[in-house]
Amino acid sequence: MIRINENYLKLQSSYLFVEIANRVKAYQQNNPQAEIIRLGIGDVTRALPSACIQAFQKGVQEMASDATFRGYGPEQGYNFLRDKIAVNDYQVRGADIHSDEIFVSDGSKCDSGNIQELFAGDIRLAIPDPVYPVYLDTNVMAGRTGEFIDGRYDNIFYLDSLPENGFVPDLPPEPADLIYLCFPNNPTGATISREMLQSWVDYARANKALILFDAAYEAFIRDQTLPRSIFEIEGAREVAIEFRSFSKTAGFTGTRCAFTVVPKTCMAYDRKGQKHSLHALWNRRHSTKFNGVSYPVQKAAEAVYSDEGKVQVRELIDYYLTNAALIRQQMAALGFEFVGGENSPYIWVNCKSDAWEFFDLLLKKAGVVTTPGSGFGKCGRGFIRISSFNSLENVEKAMARIRETLGPHFSG
Ligand code: PLP
Repeated sequence: MIRINENYLKLQSSYLFVEIANRVKAYQQNNPQAEIIRLGIGDVTRALPSACIQAFQKGVQEMASDATFRGYGPEQGYNFLRDKIAVNDYQVRGADIHSDEIFVSDGSKCDSGNIQELFAGDIRLAIPDPVYPVYLDTNVMAGRTGEFIDGRYDNIFYLDSLPENGFVPDLPPEPADLIYLCFPNNPTGATISREMLQSWVDYARANKALILFDAAYEAFIRDQTLPRSIFEIEGAREVAIEFRSFSKTAGFTGTRCAFTVVPKTCMAYDRKGQKHSLHALWNRRHSTKFNGVSYPVQKAAEAVYSDEGKVQVRELIDYYLTNAALIRQQMAALGFEFVGGENSPYIWVNCKSDAWEFFDLLLKKAGVVTTPGSGFGKCGRGFIRISSFNSLENVEKAMARIRETLGPHFSG
């Protein structure tokens, strides 16, 4: 009899996005004329930079001739891309990362979900709340958690991100072995200071722990004092792995290209306490289960680092940051407290009420779709996430409608 992995039965259904879709559909059926504006999604809306498109097309063209055709490439990625990443994303910022420590992949979702395969089943996990659900769900699938009770799985130390700690979790009072951090954060949009990140690295060193640092939104950081990579922090090479993606940086959500950085000095231990190189383990995993990102896509990603690519990527991000600034300005004028939107595409708004009720109010009265924070964890219950991934016209229109709905007499 074929049997299932029963850990899958512990997973909570992706209730959030299904429920949002159902509520939007019901509203549309009752109001067929209404024009809905979606500020709920985490997907980009603007085209790829033209430098990437040109390189992409050239890459495709090379596949059309026997002389320049390419079959399987290196599983870890072509050196033309890994070298550019090492120099531009790390070395120029003083981070000591080399191209052979970079693993190119087809997404940070896969990498941040797959990485847990390298670790023992009974390690102690520290996972933020609210959180990008992949970190949690992949550990549930692997059997590292207990049952789901009152909004939380057993056997996980939840790192609460709340107004009281500025949405940057405090160090756990007990030792944790594997720690997930994401900055700029999805869903809160919060960022972490150099000092706080240093304290996490110091904690990991003291506890022989490992930090998985998701920097998928680093391109949104404009404040020069904030770290863009954990490898800008002293000691991080021994205790951290970083995930990066071209998805939000350059609009690659549908094109698929990302990378994971595993320094050669980063170690984990067997039950006897013997050290093992995580670089070697990830290399083994990656080359066994993955056959590389397509050549034209890697050429397109390489163009992000060309002179024109850099200018175009900055313009792309600036566009969304302008939207985010507008959302911040409007929410502030309406008297809401929020975080994010300055070095991040997301604004996390304290809705002073139940997140679903507030979601319904914005949908039914303003025709604007947001994301209720409760879908990202227990700590998100009184919050909604507003995304800046849309056109400026739509964001302006949505904000005008929200202003009309909520202000100036709205009392929360
Ligand atoms: N990490 C975070 C925090 C994200 O929000 C997302 C996408 O929304 C990803 C990773 C996934 O990125 P990719 O498109 O590279 O799979």
